[in-house]
This record gives sequence, C-alpha cells and structure tokens, in this order.
Amino acid sequence: MPGVAPPSRVLVTGANGFIAIHIVRNLLERGFAVRGTVRSKAKARHLDQMFSSYGDKYEVVIVEDVTKEGAFDDAVKGVDAIEHTASPCQLESDHPDEVIVPAVSGTVSILQSALKHGPSVKRIVITSSCAAILEINPTPSTFSEADWGEQAINVVNAQGRDAPGLVKYRASKTLAEKAAWEFWNKHRDEVAWDLTVINPPWVFGPSIHDVTTPDTLNASTLTWYNYVVHPTSNGVTDETLATLGGCYVDVRDLAEAHSLVLEKPEAGGERIIVSAGTWKAQDFIDAANTINPPVRLSQPLPRGVFGAGSPNPATVHLLQFDNSKAGRILGIKYRTMAKTTEDTLRDYEARGW
Ligand code: NDP
Repeated sequence: MPGVAPPSRVLVTGANGFIAIHIVRNLLERGFAVRGTVRSKAKARHLDQMFSSYGDKYEVVIVEDVTKEGAFDDAVKGVDAIEHTASPCQLESDHPDEVIVPAVSGTVSILQSALKHGPSVKRIVITSSCAAILEINPTPSTFSEADWGEQAINVVNAQGRDAPGLVKYRASKTLAEKAAWEFWNKHRDEVAWDLTVINPPWVFGPSIHDVTTPDTLNASTLTWYNYVVHPTSNGVTDETLATLGGCYVDVRDLAEAHSLVLEKPEAGGERIIVSAGTWKAQDFIDAANTINPPVRLSQPLPRGVFGAGSPNPATVHLLQFDNSKAGRILGIKYRTMAKTTEDTLRDYEARGW
C-alpha cells in the first residue's frame, strides 16, 4: 500500500486520551487533517480549545458506544487513514469482560465500519501493546514482534474475576490484536487498506489531555507519578524502587511513530514494537535529582539509593523488547530518559503539584 501523506485526513479514536491527544497534535503539526472521536460532547471541549486554530483541518465527532455494531460507520467516511487507540487502559477491573469486551468489539467495530463505509481508507493503525507480546518468565527474556502473550489469556480463562487486573488488561490487548489480524486476513482481498499494529510498552511523559489533579492522570503516568514523585507516601521501599520496572517509551516519540507509520509503505502488514528501553523506578528518580536547575514540586523529590537501579551490575531486567524493526522502518530516535523525566516534572511543576 502506498503511504498516506499530509494533507490526508486521519481518524483518531479516543482522541481525548493521554496518548491519542499527542497523536492528534503530531498529525496536525505535520499537516495532516484530523477527525477525532470521543464519547461525549464534554470530552471534546479540551481538544477544541487546544486545536481550534487548525480550522477545518481539525474536527471531533461523538461515538458514544464503540461496542455497538456500526458505531463508527459515519466517522470513517471520507478519511484516508485510521488510528484506533480507544480501549480501556485500566490496570484494575472486576469482571474480565469490563476490559476485554470494549477492547475486542471496539477493534472489530472500527474494522467493520471501514470495510463497509471506508473506500477512501488506505491504512488502519491499531495501538496495541507490548502486553500482547510479553510473557512473565522467572528468567530474563527478550521479545520481538514474532511473540504473542498467550499466558495472560490462559490465566484469565482459569481465574476469571480473580485474575490480577494487569493480567486482565494484558489479555484484553492480546485478544483485541488477534481479532484485528484475524479480521484483516479474512477481508484483505475486499478492502483497499492494509493494517499496521504498534506495540508500545509503558508510556510515560508529559500530559496534554484534560488532567487537573494527579489522580486524573492516565494509568501509566499515574504509576510513574506514584513511584517517582511520591513513593514514600505510597509505602514503597528503596528496594522496590531499585527492582520495580519494565520497558518504556516517551509519549511524544510514540505519537511520532503513529505519524511515521502512515507515511511508510513498508509498515503495512507489520506489528512494530516502539520501545526506548528498560527502566527501574530508581533510574527515573536519579534522573529527577540531577535536573538543573532543580524542579520545585509541592514536596521534595524522593532520593531512594542513587545508582541502585539499572547502573547496579546486579540489576535484572526480566523483560526486554527487540526494537530494531521500528528503527529500520520508521527511523525513530528516542528521547533520553533524562529528557522524559525533566519534561514530565516541569509539567507537574507548572501545575503546582
Ligand atoms: P487513556 O485512558 O488516557 O485513554 C483511553 C482512551 O480510550 C480514552 O479516549 C477513553 O475514553 C477510551 N476508552 C476507554 N475505555 C473505553 C470504552 N469502554 N469505550 C470507548 N472508549 C473507551 O489511555 P492511554 O492513552 O494510555 O491508552 C491509549 C491506548 O494505548 C489504549 O489502547 C491502551 O491500551 C494503549 N496502550 C497504552 C499504554 C500506556 O502505558 N499508557 C501502553 C501500551 C498501550 P474516555 O476518556 O471516554 O474513557
């Protein structure tokens, strides 16, 4: 499929979310036109304020319930590409269906609408997750786009409601991505579009969506906030700070990847891991304490034990991701951990947190 270049029109679902609003901004800055979807008029207000200067290159439509058949029928009309991000990013849930149903049926619903009403669509990009790739093993593992996280699905099938929230979320992302590939493989000869999936790990960085207090941060940045800014008030020990971690990407680099992926013909039909590398909470705390001039938050930054995270030769990273495909196809350059940390904390400082 040829790439989709500006001034093409791109549909971004869940446009008010932490990641999606950065995608909207990146697309508009590159000269794309954007149609966002949100669940209610109230959720469009902040977006409208932020992007009204783009005139008719920016619009928002309401899609109240993504699980309804035909929910996106009108939204897909006339767009050249779709970025589907809307999905529950919840690390706590009760019944697994709370996250699995909207993740899977929202994905199938948008593909179905594009099949029926999207003759202009050339590429659909789904924001999946490294959660659809990884499995937790007792020894360190490096995963690539060839891997699928069956483990979470098995745990949810066995434990249902009692499965940990993060495992239910991982299952929702795996099942949704599987449903997307299955749909595309079934209908690829009937459509003019191809499918690309982006798989990010933890996504951190400054928030530009409608956030008023720390507890309104999205799930991933709230986790970062709780470990990097307020660990002691959350009862987190120095040992946990040195050992708790995973892989991450800055939200602005992920947004850039969502734009680049539209323009690269060779991204069609690919899963692409977009990951900057590994982290331990202590690494971000060390970066926070070396910012110059220092960031002034409403209470002093924690210190933990300097260097006890990744620089410690005994540190183990159980999960790593091979990010070479993103480098090869997208040529992506990642911000440093120091930059992500400083920009995030300056954002919190400006908010008076
Ligand atoms: P946010 O919670 O900030 O945004 C989620 C978006 O999806 C919002 O627009 C939200 O709408 C919408 N949404 C959630 N549940 C539903 C539902 N049941 N029906 C319709 N819309 C819904 O999360 P992120 O920006 O962090 O996540 C965006 C995408 O990126 C998700 O697909 C997530 O799985 C994926 N991802 C996120 C990672 C991260 O670390 N943040 C890592 C890897 C992947 P509303 O505001 O109305 O609830």
